[in-house]
Amino acid sequence: MLQLGKAWRPVSLVRCKTTLIMGPPGGGKGTISKKLIKDFNFHHISTGDLLRTQVRLGTPQGLKAKSYMESGDLVPDELIIDMVLSKVEDISSSRVLLDGFPRTRVQAEALDKKKQVEIAINLAVPNEEIVRRTSSRWIHPGSGRTYAYDYNPPKEEGKDDETGESLIQRDDDKPAAVKARLQEYDNQTLPLLDYYKEKGCLRQFDGSDNPDLVAKDRRSDAIYASLKPFMQGSLG
Ligand code: ADP
Repeated sequence: MLQLGKAWRPVSLVRCKTTLIMGPPGGGKGTISKKLIKDFNFHHISTGDLLRTQVRLGTPQGLKAKSYMESGDLVPDELIIDMVLSKVEDISSSRVLLDGFPRTRVQAEALDKKKQVEIAINLAVPNEEIVRRTSSRWIHPGSGRTYAYDYNPPKEEGKDDETGESLIQRDDDKPAAVKARLQEYDNQTLPLLDYYKEKGCLRQFDGSDNPDLVAKDRRSDAIYASLKPFMQGSLG
């Protein structure tokens, strides 16, 4: 029988799969993204990381974004849309994971014009847990390495494992900013869940299939235990 080689596969089978990871601030998007990249070889774009890099480098975009980020507000749509879409266009990988974008309706509509969203994953984490998690999160400002005192604490309290330099709390993890971020999330980002639900690509995970892990304060592990088999089924 005639075997069709890889080069003859119909284009529709190799088209780009864009996956979104959404959820409240400090809800574990970064942790879950790392696991997805390792297991599924995604090209990862995190808007929080992109913005923090611009701030660190002192670029015009970084200078503009800094004050919004420190006070827990979303940066203006036009700034983030240009930054993300120019990256998205450059990617040749067939699997893209967008982490932290879109967060507003305007951003979602701008993305739709460039890429088809295949799967929108929402991490549903209660607000009380967010407040607790963010207050225990510390970072090494030079590298962006993140520690959580209750989850992956540094070997020595207050010090980065690799350099021994002091850890700091992100300005936007301080209590007043966390409150503002949750408010922004409720007002601007939560409505996007309906947007993706209507398109039929929303999948919600809250870890409740694995209550023992949630009870041990390991909600990200509980979520991933359900998310991983779902992704295996979806991505093939
Ligand atoms: P978190 O999800 O914990 O809020 P991120 O690292 O994803 O943290 O984002 C940090 C900050 O960067 C946000 O509080 C916001 O100020 C800004 N930011 C990130 N992504 C976006 C976006 N898509 N639109 C507007 N602002 C954004």
